[in-house]
Amino acid sequence: MQVAHKNWPHVEQYLRHKSALIIPIGSTEQHGPNGLIGTDHLVAESLARKVGEENGILVAPTLAYGMSHHHLAFPGSASLSPDTLIRVIRDVVTSFARNGFSRFFFINGHGGNVSSIQAAFSDILLDHPKIRLQLASWWLLPEVTEQEKIFFGQENGHHATCGEVSVTWHLYPEDETPIKPGVAPDPETEWPVGPDRYRVLFPDGRMGSNPSLSTGEKGRVLFEIAQKALTDRLLKFLARDGSS
Ligand SMILES: [Zn+2]
Repeated sequence: MQVAHKNWPHVEQYLRHKSALIIPIGSTEQHGPNGLIGTDHLVAESLARKVGEENGILVAPTLAYGMSHHHLAFPGSASLSPDTLIRVIRDVVTSFARNGFSRFFFINGHGGNVSSIQAAFSDILLDHPKIRLQLASWWLLPEVTEQEKIFFGQENGHHATCGEVSVTWHLYPEDETPIKPGVAPDPETEWPVGPDRYRVLFPDGRMGSNPSLSTGEKGRVLFEIAQKALTDRLLKFLARDGSS
């Protein structure tokens, strides 16, 4: 159910019965010394594809760059400015809206995107009152945070978390890189911080996490919980005022 693997008559046919589109969005940024740089977009993309398949809803190509300024002191990270990200989201949504989509369900994998996504939504809705928009950030779903608490307690942390590292190991076991036990510093004294200051405060890139607790099996459990919770939010969103 991916737009990228359809031709336009397929999409036109889909739009005769449905108007919903799932858009995965993440980032390209460091995730500590053992986490994947693509974590946030890879997880959002995999969840979006599963949720799309399960519910017969098309999935747009992933927005793989996000607002990651604070990670730029680590090699491999790339960032969009908040205003660029707002414009990218607005242009992508209004393009799809022009050819018939009207309900957009964003599956987000990165905290730094949230304020820009919300700003973009406000901007779009001002000029396009018929568009419906919903943001679902998978790692903030209570079903997911409850299970993470059981698996990792306080050591889940805030960036390069045990949970997201586990999910990437479930999805990409060949990329699994172990790490020595130990909780990364998490001084909650100032935020936001720029890239150089971030590297001083969080020297190996993690924030308060101990990903030695991560396993692919825990990742599988978290992924399935997230998939179920996202399907629940998607169906509620689509049921709100008529057909999907
Ligand atoms: Zn992340």
